[in-house]
Amino acid sequence: MAASFRNRAFRYGVIGAFAGLVYALFALVFESRFGAHYEDIHLFLAPVFLGLPAAIIGREENRIRKQALLLDEARKRFSALTHSAIAEREWDVTFHDPSVPNCWEVKNCGSTSCPAYGKEHIRCWLIAGTFCRGEVQGRFAQKLGNCTKCEIYQQTVGLNPINEIGENFNSLMWALREKEDLLSDANAELQKQYDALQQLQKKTKEMADTDVLTGLKNHRHFQQRLQREVSRSRRSGKPLALLMLDLDFFKSVNDEFGHQKGDTVLACLGRLLLQAIRDCDYAARYGGEEFMIIMTDTAGQAAYEAAERLRLELQQVAEDTGLPSAYVGASFGVADMPDCATDAASLIAAADAALLFAKRKGRNRVAYFRDLSETELNENDIRRLNSRLEGASLQTLRALAEAVDSSDDYPGYNVDHIRWVAGKMAHRLGMDDEQADALTLATKLHDIGKVGVPGSVLRKKEKLSPAELSMVKKHPEIGKKILEEAEQFHELISAILYHHERWDGNGYPDRLKGKEIPLMARIVGIIDAYRAMLSDRPYRKALSVTQAVEELERGSGTQFDPALVKIFVELVRKDLQENLRQAG
Ligand code: GH3
Ligand code: MG
Ligand code: MG
Repeated sequence: MAASFRNRAFRYGVIGAFAGLVYALFALVFESRFGAHYEDIHLFLAPVFLGLPAAIIGREENRIRKQALLLDEARKRFSALTHSAIAEREWDVTFHDPSVPNCWEVKNCGSTSCPAYGKEHIRCWLIAGTFCRGEVQGRFAQKLGNCTKCEIYQQTVGLNPINEIGENFNSLMWALREKEDLLSDANAELQKQYDALQQLQKKTKEMADTDVLTGLKNHRHFQQRLQREVSRSRRSGKPLALLMLDLDFFKSVNDEFGHQKGDTVLACLGRLLLQAIRDCDYAARYGGEEFMIIMTDTAGQAAYEAAERLRLELQQVAEDTGLPSAYVGASFGVADMPDCATDAASLIAAADAALLFAKRKGRNRVAYFRDLSETELNENDIRRLNSRLEGASLQTLRALAEAVDSSDDYPGYNVDHIRWVAGKMAHRLGMDDEQADALTLATKLHDIGKVGVPGSVLRKKEKLSPAELSMVKKHPEIGKKILEEAEQFHELISAILYHHERWDGNGYPDRLKGKEIPLMARIVGIIDAYRAMLSDRPYRKALSVTQAVEELERGSGTQFDPALVKIFVELVRKDLQENLRQAG
């Protein structure tokens, strides 16, 4: 019963019913004393009429009080939540608007003098640092401490829990906003880096597609572009022209004015081409001194005329580079789709054929593929076939030379060192590039004649019989015979034939003496002997570089040209010292 009475609805109900009862009793007294008349029913129902609403009011109050408790609980929780969300951060206390004073300044209280210091200090921040005229003003002044008792707080927020929850909500939103700012900063930074990366990627791709010397697109890019343009032309049915340009006698520019001048001419031509072509056209460096121009929506005749204009404009390159005008000229080959070709490969072949024809007709001119007669085309084919054959025989001989070279490759000698020595010798003797190439080739090819000597003899470990020895001694002459078959190697023949001659005249095959032996043969002889000394042989172990050099000096004046040995030994010793110095 006591427990029920604590229930507000029951309590209010009982009180209401009791009041109703009192009312009924008063009514009865009035009726009997003063003759007033009441409906009996009203009297009987009065306790019910008063008790019921009172019970309802009690129940409502219960509910409201419960909600108030919940609200307070929520306020406390939210406050704590906001506190931990904000307090763990390192806030600085700079205010955007310095004219807005902090509450502790206004109240002239130090942080610790605040009565609520260390309790709900978030609120202080809420007042001092949140918004002023819609602008975020500052950051949480964590150390401030503070206070529901603070006047400023009370003025601003009051003690209303709804306001407090609202303020806490604001502060959480503010913290989120802060986080959002950080995120958007990070995002902006990321975007910046991404842009830079993309820029870099673009640049790298451009570099991979561009020829450094001329600034034009390179061969690889040209092939891709042509393929695309050809497909487009096929789809649209519009013509496509290809213009191939090759500088005339460009080798002589290099030979007479130096490679650097040659490079300047190429760079200058690159610039000229970029200026001269239309925006929709495309220029690339196809190879050494060969260039391609793709002209979209252009038929052969118009391309021919454009090439003719370009040919005349080339004089500008002569002027810009200070070369006599006779040195800068070019031949042009023009072909177009669909008249001369139907795909990229045949379009290039047609332009190339026209170019070859222009060269043959005397250079510095333009030729259009469609104007070439059948005979002229056949002539082109024959020339190309010839040059291909020449190339093939050259390749075969090189392969053969490599094979012979490596068959003699006993363990112990270092191919790179020999190649280096040959290059250095050529340089010291003032040879030009071509002669240096020839010398390197000769050091490889000098034993090519050994293909005509039985392997069993070449590999024999025991002493050779006189017959076998004479077989081995035949290899320079066999080498000469092989090389006579290839025109390109004629200048090497004497070096190969005489590389076993001796300075004192006791060598083979012709017992030449001293300077009768061609220079190249004398050098090859020294390099060959040096190489043999550095390799393990069936009859002895490899010598060290120092021992080999001493051995060469011993043979100086008898087996070898003394002047050449001197240069050679100097080179090798210097290299040896350099290596020792680097090795510390
Ligand atoms: P032709 O009229 O028959 O075309 O004669 P040419 O001398 O121009 O032709 P050839 O093909 O014999 O020689 C091409 C020369 O171009 C040889 C090579 O040294 C030179 N060359 C190729 N690329 C470069 C380069 O990047 N720089 C320089 N300086 N020269 C180059
Ligand atoms: Mg050329
Ligand atoms: Mg060429």
